[in-house]
Amino acid sequence: MPPPPTDWSSVQRPKLASFRRIVVKVGSSLLVDPREAKVKREWLARLAGDLASLHRLGADVLVVSSGAVALGRSVLGLPSGPLPLEDSQAAAAVGQIALARIWAETLGELGVTAGQILVTFGDTEERRRYLYARECLTRLLALRAVPVINENDTVATSEIRYGDNDRLAARVATMASADLLVLLSDVDGLYTAPPASNPDAKLLEIVPRVTAEVEAMAGGAASQFSRGGMRTKIEAAKIATTGGAHMVIADGRVEAPLSRIAAGGPCSWFLTPSTPVTARKKWIAGSLEPKGVVHVDEGAERALFSGKSLLPAGVTALEGGFARGDCVVIRNPSGGEIGRGLVTYDALDAARIIGRSSRDIEGLLGFKGPDEIIHRDDMALAGD
Ligand code: GLU
Repeated sequence: MPPPPTDWSSVQRPKLASFRRIVVKVGSSLLVDPREAKVKREWLARLAGDLASLHRLGADVLVVSSGAVALGRSVLGLPSGPLPLEDSQAAAAVGQIALARIWAETLGELGVTAGQILVTFGDTEERRRYLYARECLTRLLALRAVPVINENDTVATSEIRYGDNDRLAARVATMASADLLVLLSDVDGLYTAPPASNPDAKLLEIVPRVTAEVEAMAGGAASQFSRGGMRTKIEAAKIATTGGAHMVIADGRVEAPLSRIAAGGPCSWFLTPSTPVTARKKWIAGSLEPKGVVHVDEGAERALFSGKSLLPAGVTALEGGFARGDCVVIRNPSGGEIGRGLVTYDALDAARIIGRSSRDIEGLLGFKGPDEIIHRDDMALAGD
């Protein structure tokens, strides 16, 4: 196995307390004791203590929790090993209800409110549904609740599902514009070779970029009953770091694993060259096909370049049959393209509110939509 590409030992590990929005993914084997068919409550209480501390420090905290299938299968007495789809759906139905209750109770005891979100593949991959899911997450976080997220395994069919919560957690991290994703697993991190069979294997503490070499080190093995092996964790690292989040893989089997990471314990840090907002802006500027045009007046043009969102009042005309969440081109009074952004209203609704004050939106449309027609975080301006 080749050595790590460069000596990164001089690169500083980021500090856990410096992140403002953190997604923590908890694997099934950490949470569920298969022999007793129940959740490891003491371990969970310690982890929840760590999560509550980060929350108290002001960070937004999100949890992606596996364990529904593992818990449900033990309760139902289903065999270990791969299950037929209908059995894993049944197991998830039984397990998820218990899982959600335990999270709500454990965080609740520490004064932290939990909110359950179950998502399917389409909720993160289809732009319209993605925006709704993102709004719900954002709102929960603004209300200082901790979203506890899992795949909706009872309705996910084998062709259209994540199947592993590593990649799901990475999509959640980008969807929530998190700046850190922590994958708690049953390994310390990424080794240069399989540590069980190779005594020379070294833990990579810092992975500045997911290169082909890094992918080769990941191999393929999954642990006893979590779905993702190191390979899905590297996939997750690619998604998270391109979306502007750092990612950590650490062993969660210890007591209070987040405190251990904070104290400099063994783990692998995958670094992002970007921030969530710049990553998002790049994506908007480069990868979407615009579905329409929004013409703005001079005042709005100035406001946009001073960092403001685009309000309906500054829009003079629209082109195209765009839908909410579509990418549109923004043009100034002389017709020049000054940027692109994701619209918050369908073309028909947008046409009724342009030129008007945001205060009038509810009266004009009959529902209370966002104040802005393009939010500044969903906009990439020339020169951004
Ligand atoms: N969503 C699955 C569950 O809750 C877990 C998938 C995984 O282990 O990555 O059981």
